[in-house]
Amino acid sequence: MMAGGLLLVLSAPSGCGKTTILKQVMRDLPGLIFSVSHTTRQPRPGEVDAVHYHFVETATFAAIRNLQPTGFLEWAEVHGNMYGTSVEEVERHRAAGCDVILDIDVQGAAQVRQRAEPVTIFIAPPSLAELERRLRGRGTESEATVALRLNNARKELACSGAYDYLIVNDQLDQAVESLRSIVVAERCRQRRLPDGRQALWSV
Ligand code: ADP
Ligand code: 5GP
Repeated sequence: MMAGGLLLVLSAPSGCGKTTILKQVMRDLPGLIFSVSHTTRQPRPGEVDAVHYHFVETATFAAIRNLQPTGFLEWAEVHGNMYGTSVEEVERHRAAGCDVILDIDVQGAAQVRQRAEPVTIFIAPPSLAELERRLRGRGTESEATVALRLNNARKELACSGAYDYLIVNDQLDQAVESLRSIVVAERCRQRRLPDGRQALWSV
């Protein structure tokens, strides 16, 4: 996989506030690009094709998936729908020097760790009861999908220890500041070459 800008992976159980936090951080930090995933899920009201997701048919998704290793960097089934991250889209932005942030589930994060060296961040809710309140409060889910997402949340929280960073989204402004600080700090991290030299002074 090509180097360039940072590859950041953000995971959180659905309803934790990941989208809300990310929107604010992206407003504050130029040069941070959101990777638009492909999905077979139906758009929610207000979701725009090619902005929130590339909404595709199952056959289109399968055709891209079959292009491995150049199709999807990772893909997974989440809550009964297929989701995947395009290799081409991520590498285009990174080659241009931008930092790319993937909003993907724990299965996808594990695949990206196998193929690249991402910075991984997990956002957790203060409690499962609060997560349930937020999911219902958002008003986008039916009773059945709230139950599905809460059940999945338990499994996802069990994987949070595999991530480099953990943010508990209790107070929104503090969670935004934490994510912003992580990105800023990672931008300052010294990159070492395999022989121990540092990238900047390797001349
Ligand atoms: P996700 O993208 O993780 O599924 P959203 O960003 O859609 O979650 O947030 C789910 C709901 O929770 C939204 O209605 C949002 O306004 C609300 N929310 C997000 N963060 C907080 C917070 N810290 N305190 C209270 N409500 C929050
Ligand atoms: P939603 O349907 O609520 O937008 O997303 C459901 C879940 O799918 C979230 O946990 C989100 O992070 C995850 N997701 C979104 N895009 C991708 C992707 O490209 N790959 C994987 N593995 N998960 C994704």
